[in-house]
This record gives sequence, C-alpha cells and structure tokens, in this order.
Amino acid sequence: MDEVISDLIALGKGLSITFRNMLQKPVTITYPENKRQFSARTRGRHVLHRYQDGLERCVGCLLCQGTCPAGAIYIEPEENTPDNKVSAGERHAKVFDVDLLRCIYCGHCEFACPTNAITLENNTAIAGYTRESLLIHKHELLEESGKSTLGSTVAWDAQPPTPQEGAFDGSSTSAAAVGQGHRAGPSGKASH
Ligand code: SF4
Ligand code: SF4
Repeated sequence: MDEVISDLIALGKGLSITFRNMLQKPVTITYPENKRQFSARTRGRHVLHRYQDGLERCVGCLLCQGTCPAGAIYIEPEENTPDNKVSAGERHAKVFDVDLLRCIYCGHCEFACPTNAITLENNTAIAGYTRESLLIHKHELLEESGKSTLGSTVAWDAQPPTPQEGAFDGSSTSAAAVGQGHRAGPSGKASH
C-alpha cells in the first residue's frame, strides 16, 4: 500500500511539472517559418559591399586572405582597365571565394579590410547538403547591383566612417586611399 501511495505522489509531482510548463510561453520557435532577431553584431555569412556609384569596394589587396586564421578566403586580384572598371581602386577581386565550413566567424577579415568591403552579417542560415554548396563565390557574396550599404560596420564602429572626399585617382598605391566611408557620390550621403 505504501508503495502505491509513493508512486501516486511521484506521478502527481511529475504531472505538476508538465501542467506548469504547459501554461508557460514556449521558448522554442517554429523555424524556419519564424526567425529570431539577432544582434546587429552577430557574425554570420559574409557580404561584399559596393560604393554608391556601384563600384565594388574590394580592391583585391588580399589583406583579408592574409589575416584569415582558417585559410577560408581565396582571392584572385585583377587590374582594373578603362574598359573594365570594377572597383574604386587599381585592382578588383576577379575571384573571391569563402569556405563557410573552414570559417570560424572570428571577424578578422572585416577588421583587416581597408575599404569596409567585407563584413559578417547576422545571416546565420548556413547549411547545405554538399561540401561544394558551402564554398561560396563572389556573385553570392556581392551586394546586388543598385544596393550600397556599410553592413555591420555601423554596429561595430562607435563613429561610422565619414564619406570620402573625392574619387581615387590612381596617384596613391594605398588601398586605404580608396576609403572606408562612402565616396562622394551623387548624393554624397552614406546609406546604411
Ligand atoms: S571570419 Fe575569420 S575565419 Fe572567417 S573568413 Fe573571416 S578571417 Fe577567416
Ligand atoms: S581586405 Fe577588403 S579590399 Fe582587401 S581583398 Fe579583402 S575584402 Fe578586398
């Protein structure tokens, strides 16, 4: 008899926990229909940015590739020519690959970049069925044409870079001469 009573008490205790939790708001969400709002500093998938005039910010300097501790970035730079002006500097990245499986999302690449060309954004939906699908290429990284943002730079910098005066004229070999802010464009205003 004692055993039956102790079993009933244990059952009651267990059910009390069940009923208590049934009345609470769930901590889980129905992903992917619903998505959590991540902090602006969450380091997810990379984005390559453009200036307002559509030119690519990346000048193919290889600093991000050199600083990456995981060897996750592969770039092939190419000279800009009058017929093929892709970036605001002397060179652009002809090939820009990021291996999302190698990447440890440390953010070193974005802090090494002299032109704010690459940022890690709060897109954490990084999954794929094949190894190849997680090796992403320039056309998947680059902001779509007509879009020009500084991305998460504005979340990291207490004072986001000011718009750059004048355009790069080739008189300096420094990639930093190209500018971290927005180049003075038609509106001269930075968009975030
Ligand atoms: S976040 Fe870190 S590991 Fe990933 S590509 Fe950038 S530097 Fe490399
Ligand atoms: S550091 Fe910036 S400008 Fe240089 S190659 Fe990397 S993304 Fe391009």
